[in-house]
Amino acid sequence: MSASPYIPYARQSIVEEDLDAVVDQLQSLWVTQGPKIEEFESSVSEYVGSAHAIAVSSCTAALHLACLALKIGKGDLLWTVPNTFVASSNCGLYCGAEVDFVDIDARTLCMDVDALALKLEQAQELAKLPSVLVAVHFSGSSCDMERIFQLSKKYGFKVIEDAAHAIGGTYNELKVGSCKYSDITVFSFHPVKILTTGEGGMLVTNDENLAKRVRKLRTHGIVRDDACLEVGAWYYEMEEMGYHYRMTDIQAALGCSQMKRLDAFVARRKELVQYYNEQLSGLPLILPTEAEGISSSWHLYVIQVQSDRISRKEVFDFMREKNVIVNVHYIPVYWQPFYEKLGFHRGYCPVSENYYENAISIPLFYDLKKKEQDRVIELLKSIL
Ligand SMILES: *Cc1c(COP(=O)(O)O)cnc(C)c1O
Repeated sequence: MSASPYIPYARQSIVEEDLDAVVDQLQSLWVTQGPKIEEFESSVSEYVGSAHAIAVSSCTAALHLACLALKIGKGDLLWTVPNTFVASSNCGLYCGAEVDFVDIDARTLCMDVDALALKLEQAQELAKLPSVLVAVHFSGSSCDMERIFQLSKKYGFKVIEDAAHAIGGTYNELKVGSCKYSDITVFSFHPVKILTTGEGGMLVTNDENLAKRVRKLRTHGIVRDDACLEVGAWYYEMEEMGYHYRMTDIQAALGCSQMKRLDAFVARRKELVQYYNEQLSGLPLILPTEAEGISSSWHLYVIQVQSDRISRKEVFDFMREKNVIVNVHYIPVYWQPFYEKLGFHRGYCPVSENYYENAISIPLFYDLKKKEQDRVIELLKSIL
């Protein structure tokens, strides 16, 4: 028998139209700083229902620019959850702010809004309220944005939605990215996410001033406005310190092509999730769920091992041995050595830690074949 096929936990889906779009772009006048960027930006803002969209080189860049545009700096405090990728909190550190963590809800795996409300009450007494909160839509399921928004008004902090997992998801009938309950939402187009541009990200907002500032900071803090043009067509001014966080037109062409399949991507993921739910019920596992009013885009399918007989690590290693490249999302951010040096200690957010100890992300992506999914299911049944 041949070696068992390699099944990753996530993978991009690239079809003929994507290839054509990229080749066409390479044969056009523009490989970067051309009109395809705006076309991609419009396709995303129209889809999610935001007033503005700004394409950038990664979601991490989008998070950094979001913090800068919101004027986060030294003396500010950014709050997020431990159950996320390090970029969700690093963006605060980039700006010189301090960061802190709110625990997750064991059911939604997103920020526990009751814990947030309590922490805000305590922070108010200590005069240590956050300036900004990064709400992470874990695995594609939106946080309870309406309640977070209400708390942001009560306590006066800004809200960034980290929707790296969640393009195509909805919250109370609104597309994630509508920014109805936040200042800014960011998306990732890394190949493991819902849709890809190779590397890439997008920042969306309804605030024109924030959008303007992000556009400027995306390209070195440079402007070329009418006053500049009066001096001459060559003239530009660097108004403040910015970065080079642009996306190329080649990536944007791939993004436009992928956007056409976004609904199909999400629909297929939902089918795969339903099949996993049916087939894995009855095993000693906690399976993922969708909260009321939320439709997930299903970036991840996370099982939590609940067995006295077998550990998470044993299940994980068994799957990897069988060439099913499962993964774990996420190691609590503050467990990272860098964060421990900032003073965080184990036990700080027990729900996130307990979840982490049992979690395994199993294969979920658009092109996952029935046979492959059945193999994952059979392997899990055999080991559990
Ligand atoms: C992937 C991811 C990011 C970073 O995205 P990049 O595009 O790789 O920079 C940020 N936050 C979360 C929650 C992610 O999963």
